[in-house]
Amino acid sequence: MSNSAISGINPFEVALTQLDEVSSIIGLDKGLHQFLAQPKRVLTVSIPVKMDDGTIKVFTGFRSQHNDALGPFKGGIRYHPQVTIEEVKALSMWMTWKCAIANIPFGGGKGGIICDPKSMSEGELEKMTRRYAYGISDIIGPYRDIPAPDVYTGGREMAWIMDTYSVIKGNYIQPEVITGKPLQIGGSLGRNEATGRGLAITVREAAKKLNIDMKSATIVVQGFGNAGQFAAQLVEEQGAKVIAASDSKGCIINKNGIDTASLRKHKEKTGSVTNFQGTQSISNKELLETECTILIPAALENQITKDNVGNIKTKIVAEAANGPTTPDADKVLYNNNIMVIPDILANGGGVTVSYFEWLQNLRREYWTEAEVNDRLDTNITKAFLGAYDTHLKHNTDMRKASMIVALNRVVDAIKIRGLWP
Ligand code: NAD
Repeated sequence: MSNSAISGINPFEVALTQLDEVSSIIGLDKGLHQFLAQPKRVLTVSIPVKMDDGTIKVFTGFRSQHNDALGPFKGGIRYHPQVTIEEVKALSMWMTWKCAIANIPFGGGKGGIICDPKSMSEGELEKMTRRYAYGISDIIGPYRDIPAPDVYTGGREMAWIMDTYSVIKGNYIQPEVITGKPLQIGGSLGRNEATGRGLAITVREAAKKLNIDMKSATIVVQGFGNAGQFAAQLVEEQGAKVIAASDSKGCIINKNGIDTASLRKHKEKTGSVTNFQGTQSISNKELLETECTILIPAALENQITKDNVGNIKTKIVAEAANGPTTPDADKVLYNNNIMVIPDILANGGGVTVSYFEWLQNLRREYWTEAEVNDRLDTNITKAFLGAYDTHLKHNTDMRKASMIVALNRVVDAIKIRGLWP
C-alpha cells in the first residue's frame, strides 16, 4: 500500500500545485485564487461505536466542501485506515474541477472515515456509517451536498446514509440526498459501471486522436475494484487485451491476455485477483512498469511519481483513481509523449451518472440503462473533446487543459454570482 500516508506526498499540496500552475496560465485574480485554494468548509466528526466485543471505539470522520459556485457540493465517502484531512480536502477540490469539466451543475465535496472496514463486522460498519451520517447531517442535503460511494464504500453504505438522513430529517424518504444507491431504493441503472464506462469513452476518443489501433492495444490495470474492473472490461470490449491487473493483495500478469469477466468471477469467489489461472505473480513496481498501450491506475493516490515515471512504458495513462500521478511525474510523462487522461476527466463518468441518479430521484422517474449510457457517452465525449482542443490551443498537457476549462467555468460562476455581501 503506498498512498499518501506512506509515500509522504501530501495530496492537498499536489492539488494546490496544480491549481497554482493553471491559475498562472489563465492569469487568475489573486483573491479568487486564494478563495479556491481552500475548501469553503471542512467538518471533522467524532464517531463513537459500540463494537461487537462490547468496547467503545471512537472513529474520526471528515466532510470537506470545496466550492459550490456551480451547484450543491458533490463527492464520495471513503473508508480507509490512511484517510487524512488533507486527502479529503484534495479530493473535494478535484471534485470541483471534475463536475465543472463534465459540465454538470455540482460543486466539489468529499468525505472519509479513518477506519479499516475489512476488519469490521457488518453491524459495526452500519453503526459507524449511521453515526457519521448523523454527524454530517446538518451540512448535507439534496440541494446542499450529495455524497456518493468511494473506496471501500458502496450501495450498502449509501442505503444506510439515506435511511438515517431520511429518518432524522422529517422521516420521509429522501433518495436525492445521496447517489450510488441500490436500484431498489432509487439507484440508477448504469451507475455501477459508470466510472469505468466514462473512462473507456475517454480512452476511445484518445485512441482516435493518437491513431492507436485498439485491436492491438494492451491494458494494465492497477486496482481491480469498482472503477478498475469496469474500466478494464469496457476498454477490452473495444478490442484491447488486459495483460496485467492487481488489487491490495497482489499483482498478476499474462502477456497473452486475461479475460476480465473470468477474473471478476475469480475475485468474487476468492476475494482477490491473485492466483488466477494462467497468470504469474509480479510486484506492484513491475506491474506499473510493464510495457503496454494503456495504463489504468485505479487504486489510490501517488502511484506514478518521480521515482518510477522514467520506467513507465505506455502510450496513455488513463486515471481511474484520483490523484495517482504527482505533478513532477506529469511533466516527465508529457515530455515522453505519453498522454495522461487526468482523473478529473477520465473518471468523471461516475459523478455524471450520479447527477443522472439525482435528477431521476428528484422527478421520481426512472430511465432505461441505454438512455443513461447514451447521455453519459454524449457528455464525456464532449468533455474530452473540449479538453483536447484546449490542450492544442494552449500547447499544454491534458490535465492542465482540463483544469483550464473547469477553472474558467467555476470562476465565471463566482464572478457572475458576485460575492455576498
Ligand atoms: P474499490 O474499493 O471498489 O476498489 C479499490 C481497489 O483497489 C480494490 O480492488 C483494492 O483491492 C485495490 N487496491 C487498494 N490498494 C491497492 C494497492 N496498493 N495496489 C493495488 N490495488 C490496490 O474503490 P473504487 O471505487 O474502485 O475506487 C478506486 C479509485 O477510483 C479511487 O481513487 C477512487 O477515488 C476512484 N474513483 C472511483 C469512482 C467510483 O465511482 N467508484 C469514481 C471516481 C473515482
